[in-house]
Amino acid sequence: MGADATVMTVLGPIPADRLGFTLPHEHIYCRLQQADYRYTGGDQFDDDDVMASEVSAFAERGGATIFDLSVPDNGRSPERLRALSERTGVHIVMGCGWYRENYYLPEERIDRRPVGDLAEELVREITEGAGGAGIRPGVIGEIGAEKTWVSPAEERVLRAAARAHRETGLAVGALHAVGPAAPEQLTILEEEDVDMSRVAVAHCESYPHLRYLLGLLERDVYIMFDNCGQYRGMGEFEDRIIDLIRELIDRGFADRLMLSHDVCKFGQLRIHGGTGFVYLPETFLPALLERGVDASAIETMTHDNPRRWLAGI
Ligand SMILES: [Zn+2]
Repeated sequence: MGADATVMTVLGPIPADRLGFTLPHEHIYCRLQQADYRYTGGDQFDDDDVMASEVSAFAERGGATIFDLSVPDNGRSPERLRALSERTGVHIVMGCGWYRENYYLPEERIDRRPVGDLAEELVREITEGAGGAGIRPGVIGEIGAEKTWVSPAEERVLRAAARAHRETGLAVGALHAVGPAAPEQLTILEEEDVDMSRVAVAHCESYPHLRYLLGLLERDVYIMFDNCGQYRGMGEFEDRIIDLIRELIDRGFADRLMLSHDVCKFGQLRIHGGTGFVYLPETFLPALLERGVDASAIETMTHDNPRRWLAGI
C-alpha cells in the first residue's frame, strides 16, 4: 500500500491508515423485506436515533469504521449514512451493486440489459456518486448468489462488478454465497481478469469445512466469517468456527481472514436484545484470545485486512 492510499467514505476520501478497527460487512440502513415476496423476517432499520446508538456502541469499544454493504435493492440510504457518520464520528464506507436474484427490482431489468450497460451504471455511480447527493461508494457489494449456484442474472451482475472493478480499482465483495456457489463466483471473476487479492467471500460459516476454505484461499481471496454473534448461544457451532479460524491462522492465513456481524435484521440490534455491532469486541475477540489466537493475528484480521482489501497493497 502506498503511503498516500485513500479509501472513499460517505464523507469523502480519507487516508487508508485511518480506518482502524473495522467491521467489513454490516448493514446500517437495510430493508430486506422491501418487497412482499422477499424476506419477511422483521421490520426495517428506520430509526436514526437507534442506529446512532448502535453505531456509537461500537465506537465506545474502540471501533473506527463500518462498511455498509447495503445496495439499492435492499435499502441502502446514502444521505442517512452520511448524516450518521457526521453524528457519530464513525467512518462509513458505502457499497454499490445489486444484491441477489430474489432482490433485483423489476425496473432494474437485470436480465435484459447487456453486461456493459450494468457496468457503466456502476462506474457512473462510483465516479459521480449516488443519486443527486454525490455520495460515492467505496466498495462494490454486497453481491451474490441466491442459491448454491450462480443464476444467469447473477452472472451478469458479477461480470458487471468485475468490469467496474477493473475500471475504478474498487474492491469486490462481500460475495454472498451459500457454500458451493463461491468457487463458481470466483471463476467468473477470474475470467474477467479481476485482481483476486481485492475480492472477499462472505458467509464462510455457511460451509465450515477446512478443505473447502483452503480451496478458496488458494485463489488468493479474502474470506469472511461475518456472522459473528448470529450463532450466539449455539456453543458447539461457535466452538467449531473458532477452531477453524485458529487452524487457518496456524496455517499462515491470518492475512486473509476478516470478521464481522452482518447485522441486517431487527432482532440483531442491541435495543431488541441482539448483539449489534459489539459482539466482536465484547465477546468473540476475547474468546479467540482465550483459545490461543494471538493478539497480533486479531489486529491483522480486524485492522489490516479490511484496509488492504479496500485500498490494495
Ligand atoms: Zn450482508
